[in-house]
Amino acid sequence: MTRRTGLVWNERFMWHEQGRYAGILPADFPLQPGRHHENPETKRRLKNLLDASGLSEQLTPIKARPITREELRRVHTADYLDQLDAGNLLPAAQAGLDAPYTKGSVDIAKLAAGGCLAAIEAIFEGQVDNAYALVRPIGHHAEPDLGKGFCLYSNAALAARHAQAKYGVKRVALIDLDVHHGNGAERVFWRDPSVLTISLHQELWFPPDSGGLEDIGEGQGQGYNLNIPLPAGCGFGAYQAAFERVVLPALENFEPELVIVPCGYDAGAQDPLGRMILHGEAFRWFIRELRGIADRFAGGRLLVTHEGGYNENTVPFMGLAVFEELSGIDSGVVDPHRDIFVNMHGHELLMHQEAVIATAASLARDIRKLQ
Ligand code: ZN
Repeated sequence: MTRRTGLVWNERFMWHEQGRYAGILPADFPLQPGRHHENPETKRRLKNLLDASGLSEQLTPIKARPITREELRRVHTADYLDQLDAGNLLPAAQAGLDAPYTKGSVDIAKLAAGGCLAAIEAIFEGQVDNAYALVRPIGHHAEPDLGKGFCLYSNAALAARHAQAKYGVKRVALIDLDVHHGNGAERVFWRDPSVLTISLHQELWFPPDSGGLEDIGEGQGQGYNLNIPLPAGCGFGAYQAAFERVVLPALENFEPELVIVPCGYDAGAQDPLGRMILHGEAFRWFIRELRGIADRFAGGRLLVTHEGGYNENTVPFMGLAVFEELSGIDSGVVDPHRDIFVNMHGHELLMHQEAVIATAASLARDIRKLQ
């Protein structure tokens, strides 16, 4: 069955720049200037592959619009928003920890966050069944009062709040697949049980000292934040076990009315900023399972926001698999990396990986549907 899948894309997303960088560090002697790891290339090449495969013409374009200050205030503090706006006038600025930006980037970030809200509107107003926001800057590390990890605004969290504010949605689930911890949503919804936040990530990676099993939320929100900090080196087997024993049971208990997936591809094999070995077939399976949850509980309502992923050759194919699974359309394109990565050693579930998953599974059992 094919579905109407929306695509949020704007060429200006590709014009956000961090400045004079090499990898993750400012380029200064002795570090030769190069490119920031989070440069447009992976995202642009995903869009190019959608075009070249013919899939993008079968998607529904969703026009991005700038997010308003009132909408940003649902998540971010006034001081932080003022600080970003002031930096937008400077040649280069820093939003916090590892979140550099240059003149005009904040305008682009507002268009990116607003694009995620436009996707929520298209989903709830019936123009599309589900949507993919292929946006830059990415968002999942941005906290209420602090930019982090290449992120200025917390795109997915803002989308969740928009669905609640504009459409009265009671329960939203965020499942963060990026190899780095989804700290932004964790902080935003720390005391809020109406948004279940789940993050699968490489343990003790980024942000530093973030994303532990014991961090389950507080107050009313206690139990509604699930971290699955996987050891480096996990393959599809460990991720499948984490889904089957933690993520899917938690979602079945919670019964979300909207599913949002901050989707990074840096858990992919050969990513420079992650040490996992996933492939496009893994992402296809994740989205199939999450679409199943959305179909059962949320009328199919599912939004994917693009997050990290820094291997410019492989990210487009993992992304294409996600688009194919969202839309139910087979592009006919076969990922040239597929056999290499699927047949790599290390995809079986190992004991030290299972130990983390077993602990997380015990936490998932406590989650209940809130009225
Ligand atoms: Zn990441």
